[in-house]
Amino acid sequence: MSRTEGGQVQTPLGIFGGTFDPVHLGHLLPVTDAAREIGLHRVKLLPCHIPAHKATPTVSAAQRLAMVRLVCAKWPLFELDDRELRRDSPSYSVDTLNEYRREEGNRPLVFFIGLDSLKNLNSWHRWQEILTLCHLVVCRRGDCLASFNPDVSRLLEQHRTRDARHLKEKPAGLIYLADTRELAISSTELRGSLARGEATDLLPEEVLAYIQLHGLYGVRSEE
Ligand code: ATP
Repeated sequence: MSRTEGGQVQTPLGIFGGTFDPVHLGHLLPVTDAAREIGLHRVKLLPCHIPAHKATPTVSAAQRLAMVRLVCAKWPLFELDDRELRRDSPSYSVDTLNEYRREEGNRPLVFFIGLDSLKNLNSWHRWQEILTLCHLVVCRRGDCLASFNPDVSRLLEQHRTRDARHLKEKPAGLIYLADTRELAISSTELRGSLARGEATDLLPEEVLAYIQLHGLYGVRSEE
């Protein structure tokens, strides 16, 4: 067990990073399932910087943040962590995880990702360091098949656990594939639907209301 200096068992810190452009149910429901499965009651939502050339022209970082804030006010599981947006430039996950590690001592860190992100893990900046800093809890993704490239297959062989209790026993180093709802939703497709004026029930209602109020993603403004 991972314990404090006083000998108490430490609950892992859950973190879920993303561009959240916009935050949708494909982000929130699978992580809700995974958190329940592994016994976490709080997860930090960590919106990341998007380089200016990639940002959605009609949506600012402040508006992405506002949508995540609305979710955190409504969903008891989630709490906002705006540290990456408070910095001037994009930060790599490995740097942010190093920062958490410095703050949290040997408390287990659980970083939630979707299956597509696991498949691309070997393209992340300093990807070999990620599992020295945290555990990865992977959510299924409806539009993504579980076939892995050789680097990721090897990593899975070396680090996979099938027992969620192990995540509480050490600070980092494990990959757990959670049994989550499969939702084939992506922000990119959602933005397309919104721009075409199609109805969508794939967004939390508070986020849809915000998008409609401010006329984001090509939706006609109600302002
Ligand atoms: P884009 O369409 O721009 O790729 P996205 O919807 O994939 O956006 P991000 O905010 O970039 O969303 O993703 C943040 C995290 O959420 C990533 O780890 C990603 O794998 C995960 N994720 C996104 N959509 C889903 C989904 N439908 N099911 C499970 N995980 C998801």
